[in-house]
Amino acid sequence: MGRLSDWWRLRTLARERQCYAPADWAAAWGALPLLAGLNPDQSARLIDLALLFLRDKRIEPVQGLVLTAAMRLTIALQACLPILELGLDWYRGWYAVILYPDAFIPGHEYTDADGMVRVDDRVKGGEAWERGPVILSWADVVAGCELDGYNVVVHELAHKLDMRNGGANGCPPLHGDMSSEAWSRDWSAAFADLGRRVDAGEETPLDPYGAESPGEFFAVASEAFFEIPGLLHDAYPAVYVQLQAFYRQDPLARLGAGACVPGALSSCPHGGCGNLGTLPQTMAKYVGEVGLDRQQPRPDIHDRSVRHPI
Ligand SMILES: [Zn+2]
Repeated sequence: MGRLSDWWRLRTLARERQCYAPADWAAAWGALPLLAGLNPDQSARLIDLALLFLRDKRIEPVQGLVLTAAMRLTIALQACLPILELGLDWYRGWYAVILYPDAFIPGHEYTDADGMVRVDDRVKGGEAWERGPVILSWADVVAGCELDGYNVVVHELAHKLDMRNGGANGCPPLHGDMSSEAWSRDWSAAFADLGRRVDAGEETPLDPYGAESPGEFFAVASEAFFEIPGLLHDAYPAVYVQLQAFYRQDPLARLGAGACVPGALSSCPHGGCGNLGTLPQTMAKYVGEVGLDRQQPRPDIHDRSVRHPI
């Protein structure tokens, strides 16, 4: 980074810091146990990222929701945890977080497989639009603060990372030291196992919503990676290693196996996503191997089911 951009970044951060009182930071940080174990350097970098995130993205409350500074920080800190070692550029190209007070029914029109125009009336806790905003339910953001593998902010932002090379297909742009063949192999095996367990009616180590599509599996596994890393590592160790390489973080070392809450996940009654986008060759093989061809009403929108009762 050059001296001018260094100066600009420091000036921006100083200005943004004035928008938040120590009590706002304490309220937000205290509500987020997934930040436990961050060392002072990591914490400082996460705070800077959160401030720059809030400068770059408008958080727009709707339906009369009153947005406080602590709420803005609660969202931004979670949103920036996945990019702590990647950088804010990974969220380039979109500009808004729309915040509902509670779970919402977006009512998108879509054309089904028979050519009929229908309305998507599923209840959502969040959505990520390709080349568009992230939409969140504040009630679900609050419900996602526990270390139980449900985190709508991480889920939708994982979709955004996945979408950086096209549709949310479970394969974000990989770093140069990663192997797309190994990624395909490891995710294929785990995805097939989760789908088999769901189809058999067995208890699943991850939220069954992840069995809906490779894109949802990546987002659900990312939630588990940051909240219940021990459980993910025990169930799908190769997937944990791939996420460790992608996010360049090791939450298991940070949080410890004690972060696991086996059996805390609830099943999801909602339909999933089938957008396969433009797949790298290895990922097309991944999808083909598991025979995935499910329909998503709006292939450019990826959602998250609600967790809390409504
Ligand atoms: Zn999703």
